[in-house]
Amino acid sequence: MITRDRGFLERRDAERWVVLLETQALDDQARLLRERLGINWLRAPFSRCLVCNCRLHTVLGRQGDLRYCCRCQKLYWEGSHVRRMRCRLKQWQLCPLS
Ligand SMILES: [Zn+2]
Repeated sequence: MITRDRGFLERRDAERWVVLLETQALDDQARLLRERLGINWLRAPFSRCLVCNCRLHTVLGRQGDLRYCCRCQKLYWEGSHVRRMRCRLKQWQLCPLS
């Protein structure tokens, strides 16, 4: 269980099943989850449809590759938001917990 509620730490065997997020800073929380749970933030980011969670397929577009969902027929492209998020995911994965 991932929580900010310290009360769960008083439960039996809490150290086995509770990850306490002591900070409100999202970047620090992401790094903590990487260290405690072994989450790899760089493993296949942006590879699932935001609507139906199906795996996206790469298709060639006029201005570069697009990602396509066969189920809901939604197209995704790598805009500035995706580029910023990729940078942030790298920081979460590579920077040590402060
Ligand atoms: Zn979809």
